[in-house]
Amino acid sequence: MDALPPLPNPSHRLDGLPGYGRGRARQTLPFHHRLGSNEAPDGPSPSVHAAVAASFASAHRYPDLRGESLAEALAQRHGLSPELVAVGAGSIVLLDQLIRAWCDPGDEVVTPWRSYEAYPILAGLAGARMVEVPLDAAARLDPARLLAAVGPRARVVLICNPNNPTGTALDAAAIDGLLAALPRDVLVILDEAYADYAGDAADVAEGPALRLARHANLAVLRTFSKAWGLAGMRVGYCLADPRIVAAVHAVQPPFPLPAPALSAALACLAEPEAVAARVALNATERKRLSDGLCKAGLPVAESAANFVWLPVGDHAEELAAHLAGASIAVRCFAGEGVRITTGSPLDTDAVLGAVTRWNARSLRAGHVENKGS
Ligand SMILES: *Cc1c(COP(=O)(O)O)cnc(C)c1O
Repeated sequence: MDALPPLPNPSHRLDGLPGYGRGRARQTLPFHHRLGSNEAPDGPSPSVHAAVAASFASAHRYPDLRGESLAEALAQRHGLSPELVAVGAGSIVLLDQLIRAWCDPGDEVVTPWRSYEAYPILAGLAGARMVEVPLDAAARLDPARLLAAVGPRARVVLICNPNNPTGTALDAAAIDGLLAALPRDVLVILDEAYADYAGDAADVAEGPALRLARHANLAVLRTFSKAWGLAGMRVGYCLADPRIVAAVHAVQPPFPLPAPALSAALACLAEPEAVAARVALNATERKRLSDGLCKAGLPVAESAANFVWLPVGDHAEELAAHLAGASIAVRCFAGEGVRITTGSPLDTDAVLGAVTRWNARSLRAGHVENKGS
């Protein structure tokens, strides 16, 4: 092979960054049960289809400069003024923009850990240092430990509630207590990608406005990728003080959302009953999945999201491989555990069938320790 031509090196910030994972193992055949990325099991409704198709008639025009049409609809949904809303191509993009807007090299991003795997990547890209605060024995955020870890270089505190990948959540009172105790001079980012699954619909809609009224240093992230069923359209949003929104807009290139994504999100917002149905189905299947997994002797963390966390430690890869053999894709965290998305009733049946077979063997060999929950 010819030697590669020389190339100017990219920034050192890229050195040693972990890559983004994907919710499936390397396999050529598609999985029957795609339970690795916490997506909704059902596709878009006819009205979302129609809205996306109609938007294409204007494909020769630029979309909203800042996604204003969607920001206005979201402001209405959450009882806020539109200056408190920024939209982006997924909440992960908004998170990237917030971290870049707030952190200089050497600054600290403090977060409970284990949490969402994108966090260290985004902090690293900004040249910031991650301060990872261990979860408690039940895989929950530990407020006292988190507060103790916020030092003078901390610029951002990043809280995922419910937490990915453990599914554990602090209740509203605990989050309020934590927000009140955190210093005013750090940006607190509350990643609520799974909020719809955790609370009642009115609280999910009204919660951010109540908190933003008390905490100017708070940014709430939400997404259309999970309970709203639009992961493929890439729509997320940030609710925050107008000065925070202005900083996001300063970092964000114009036209953050393509027209079909704007139209899809607007059509979804007009159909909250589809979200309510997904949340109800998720509650049923999550209970069936958790109970079945416990009964099979596996450790299961208490989940408030659309997935369950099995802290099987050194058996994570073996369990994920076994499930892959049954055409079930899950997310494996080697040495720590396995995260399984709640899907359709058929998905639950498939997981419970496969796990019972695996666990029976491993238990006989005395491998898996059931920590219960
Ligand atoms: C899925 C997920 C998101 C959503 O990301 P999008 O970019 O909006 O698809 C954000 N945060 C967490 C913790 C997630 O699990």
